Amino acid sequence: MSATVYKNYINGTWVASSSGETFENRNPANHDDVIGVFQRSNEADVKAAVDAAAAAYMKWRLVPAPKRGEILYRVAARLTANKEQFSRDMTREMGKILIETRGDVQEAIDMTYYMAGEGRRLFGMTTPSELPNKFNMTVRQPVGVCGFITPWNFPMAIPSWKMMPALICGNTIVIKPATDTPMSVVNLMKACEEEGVPPGVVNMVTGPGGSTGEALMNDDRVRIVSFTGSTEVGRRVSTACAPKFKHLCLEMGGKNVIIIMNDADLELAVEGVLWGAFGTSGQRCTATSRVIMHKDVAAKFTSMLVERAKNIKVGNGLEDSVQMGPVVNQSQVDTVLKYIEIGKADGARLECGGQRLTGGAYDKGYFIQPTVFSGVTRNMRIWKEEIFGPVLGMGTFNTFEEAIELANDTAYGLSASIYTRDVNKAYVAMRDVYTGIFYVNAPTIGAETHLPFGGTKETGNGHREAATAALDVFSEWKSIYVDFSGTIQRAQIDNAD
Ligand code: NAD
Repeated sequence: MSATVYKNYINGTWVASSSGETFENRNPANHDDVIGVFQRSNEADVKAAVDAAAAAYMKWRLVPAPKRGEILYRVAARLTANKEQFSRDMTREMGKILIETRGDVQEAIDMTYYMAGEGRRLFGMTTPSELPNKFNMTVRQPVGVCGFITPWNFPMAIPSWKMMPALICGNTIVIKPATDTPMSVVNLMKACEEEGVPPGVVNMVTGPGGSTGEALMNDDRVRIVSFTGSTEVGRRVSTACAPKFKHLCLEMGGKNVIIIMNDADLELAVEGVLWGAFGTSGQRCTATSRVIMHKDVAAKFTSMLVERAKNIKVGNGLEDSVQMGPVVNQSQVDTVLKYIEIGKADGARLECGGQRLTGGAYDKGYFIQPTVFSGVTRNMRIWKEEIFGPVLGMGTFNTFEEAIELANDTAYGLSASIYTRDVNKAYVAMRDVYTGIFYVNAPTIGAETHLPFGGTKETGNGHREAATAALDVFSEWKSIYVDFSGTIQRAQIDNAD
């Protein structure tokens, strides 16, 4: 049976790339399973998509925000109705287990409902004037065409984090999904199409980062670029956008830490570390990749954790009993195995895992054992560099102050956590660990859509996604002064005594 061909979505229609070229999307748990054939888009396709978005913007920005919200409510309902199918498609295209892909689609549903509700808020401010008979207020105005470049690890959630706030603010969009996960964005586009998002308001071009992505971020008519991916590519995007003063929202890498204090509930902490480190096969920007333990509990905690990690069932995420799926592609396999060798060479102790799984069904996919290193110290590369796979590095500390210092000893600043029963220490950690997200007695993953999401240092560039913070990315403030005095009134001058 030949694979289904999926086209680009431009101006409300499904069109083939003018390049005439396509690429295949295969299941990382089973190479024989072809999810579909997608368009390898070129600059002309991107231009056509931006043309459509620019034309549609002139109307969409004037649709009352509550009306835009009504359309988003319908899109959210459609995503809800199709949740199971979309989750299965996602497990097939990127590998994470079904309960996690259901969570990914649910995040898109939550974000869509949340932003639909913003249609009746989008609050500005009224504030007194310093002059008599004068009225002051602020309103949010849309910016124009947005270009989105997204990664493969949250194939529907991350696109929705960008799309829904952009749309409610009155912008139009062009999205380029990751080459490993175009299907989930096709599903998102279909939901928009079926629920009456007008032609040109949302557009999708599939294809590689180097050509399709670059064409999108370099188009002068794209006024906002929102990128989620590696810090390395984010730096390129940042450099490309700077000369044009494009608005730019960057969400990049992480090296997230869990601190285990000597008064922690160790059973609870084991559950948290397993979920944080091996959920999505460690391929989350918020994945727990470092654990630091108080020396008094280090040996006990390590053996409790390793015992559990060894027994994680790895396999095809569509099977109910499987607890961890494959990594996404061959290049991820190579990277993860390379870091395992680096860890060993740097002197960390391999406690479990460390191998690619082979034999039987494993030969058809990209499966790696859950891997735990102990004895990891700050000079090692597996302490410093993002691995983005099922590899956890564990180290120790002597004092709470040292724990805070070690937690902050990273170029990134996305997420961190502490397990403790001491409320004072929890509050100090909340204050002193410099990340965008912090958890107490929970792992480093588990963001909710109505709180800001993003990180400090090399994780981001100061913006936040989700919550009302996202509205600040996708709108610009306009301050409006209405003088009804009938006279010329000069601010700072005519109100002087
Ligand atoms: P990546 O940087 O390789 O790719 C991200 C996107 O950029 C893809 O769509 C890719 O095609 C595109 N791209 C690649 N080269 C490009 C170029 N030269 N110009 C324009 N676009 C280009 O990242 P990935 O492997 O897809 O995702 C993993 C990374 O994403 C990890 O570093 C992870 O931490 C990060 N991430 C961060 C967050 C966050 O919110 N902070 C969330 C998820 C993933």
